[in-house]
Amino acid sequence: MNVRDLIAIDVHTHAEVSSRQPPDVLWQPFEEAANVYFKAGKRPTITDTIAYYRERRIGLVMFTVDSEFQIGARRISNEEVAEAAAENSDIMIAFASIDPHKGRMGVREAEALVKGGIVKGFKFHPTVQGFFPNDRMAYPLYEVIAEHRLTAIFHTGHSGIGTGMPGGGGLRLKYSNPIYLDDVAADFPDMTIIMAHPSWPWQDEALSVCLHKPNVYIDLSGWSPKYFPAQLVQYANSQLKQKMLFGSDYPLIAPDRWLKDFENAGFKPDVQPLILKENAIRALRLEAAA
Ligand SMILES: [Zn+2]
Repeated sequence: MNVRDLIAIDVHTHAEVSSRQPPDVLWQPFEEAANVYFKAGKRPTITDTIAYYRERRIGLVMFTVDSEFQIGARRISNEEVAEAAAENSDIMIAFASIDPHKGRMGVREAEALVKGGIVKGFKFHPTVQGFFPNDRMAYPLYEVIAEHRLTAIFHTGHSGIGTGMPGGGGLRLKYSNPIYLDDVAADFPDMTIIMAHPSWPWQDEALSVCLHKPNVYIDLSGWSPKYFPAQLVQYANSQLKQKMLFGSDYPLIAPDRWLKDFENAGFKPDVQPLILKENAIRALRLEAAA
């Protein structure tokens, strides 16, 4: 990635529509409920997403979400995302997603992807995948990530997925309490951990873990900065100014809107460039890799 040519790095974008496989009908009700919650429209293909970012000279980290175990919906393949990143390596980084319930087979998949050299991190969604991040079940997967000094990004806080569905779609919010990541950060100090989103209703837990563990970062995706909890902005401006990252959650929140609202959300002028790009370069070890 040519970080110096980019105006920002968005560490949180989703691979939404495959160009290789049809949408899975099993995922449809979750997507429709999320569209209501986020007021989102038609989902872009992976190719559309990259074109959108290229036009704006914004770097992006993209991943699929593996919910095959708990929801049973087929994921977009990690290989498709990795190949897109290989073809667009000046602006794009691929993360993979493997549900820890896949056990040894999941570890094999992770090792093969890491060996390919394109995948630089892994996305976890404890609520959609149905596991506590500190469950020992997930540790063999974290060992692969830590061994290669890569990044693990975890959804934290409330989940738009399942919101408003009967029984919340069967999904449980408890798994996304960021306090469970404190154990993971303690046990894997060489693994960069990104806690995604304002972690409401556990914002203070997230700030505490991020302050305590040098390997933990917070991405500011999934919400317009207009609605950020006050203490999140306060810590971003002070003790955690090196630890917060720009993320949008594209396509559910578009960078155009996020960046516009960010300007007026109370972030200090000297802190804004750190959040938009500099912290991501350090967290993802982008210059060492270049
Ligand atoms: Zn997301």
